[in-house]
Amino acid sequence: PHHKLLVGLIGAGIQRSLTPAMQEEEARHHGLRLHYQLIDLDTTKSGPELLPTLLTAVRTMGFAGLNITFPCKQAVIPLLDDLSDEARAMGAVNTVVHRDGKLIGHNTDGSGWSWNFKRQLPDADLSRVLLLGTGGAGSAIAHAALRMGVKELRLYDVDPARAKGLAAELNRLYGAGRAVAASDIAAGIADATGLIHATPMGMDKMPGLPLAEELLRPELWVSEVVYFPIDTALLKAARAKGCRTVDGGGMAVGQAVGAFRLFTGREPDAGRIDAHFRRL
Ligand code: NAD
Repeated sequence: PHHKLLVGLIGAGIQRSLTPAMQEEEARHHGLRLHYQLIDLDTTKSGPELLPTLLTAVRTMGFAGLNITFPCKQAVIPLLDDLSDEARAMGAVNTVVHRDGKLIGHNTDGSGWSWNFKRQLPDADLSRVLLLGTGGAGSAIAHAALRMGVKELRLYDVDPARAKGLAAELNRLYGAGRAVAASDIAAGIADATGLIHATPMGMDKMPGLPLAEELLRPELWVSEVVYFPIDTALLKAARAKGCRTVDGGGMAVGQAVGAFRLFTGREPDAGRIDAHFRRL
């Protein structure tokens, strides 16, 4: 096609996002002209309340699609025409496709996370896993983790109602007892085999650890969601304890692979995107 594909990312503090480079480079390999526009709420000092205005612009300007990130993954849902089954189940949208005048919400975070996790730690013990953070990324990962075979998923969030609500939803979808809301981090991690971190702690804007360092044990695998910086305080502390770790970069690649497929209808080369990401 000769026309240019226009896509973008809506979120806060996204100026250093690597997604534009990943999408534009993969498009180039497919002979597609794709422009990836950053729509950063921080630059206009606005928040999710700007979403209706932005989505009207997306419709009128003929965007082919959007990625959606913090803090808009849940707020965008009421503004869309329809959702994929996956996005509906997860209650979070990270990718929007604009086709035939309709905006359809998808979620490639969960599948992106499990694609990368299986690639990095294929033999990980999935018996009892503690998930910190049950927002957009955390809820997507929770669904993906249970689908991938985690037997018992423990959920902890500073907002306990959010963790409880997600646990109830997961048990309804995947079977009673698969998910429990942990009363505190120490209890949830005590006999856990793995830890998944999905809060914003450790980002440049929120430096620090999401849990007390003493709670980490060498037998525990640790999967990080934060990918800017790629090497977070949590990953450093976990490695120092002897834990096997998975960084947030592979999940970012996995979600980009899924989003590219949705935006363009072409099959992306996951290995090529991953190699490019690691060079950025
Ligand atoms: P969100 O705001 O939707 O969810 C964050 C959740 O964490 C909230 O429920 C909040 O209550 C909880 N929380 C905050 N601080 C906490 C703490 N100290 N302990 C326990 N819970 C806490 O945000 P999100 O969109 O889910 O993003 C979270 C992080 O994941 C961000 O750093 C984002 O950049 C990253 N992310 C990475 C990828 C990737 O591909 N690697 C994809 C999506 C998001």
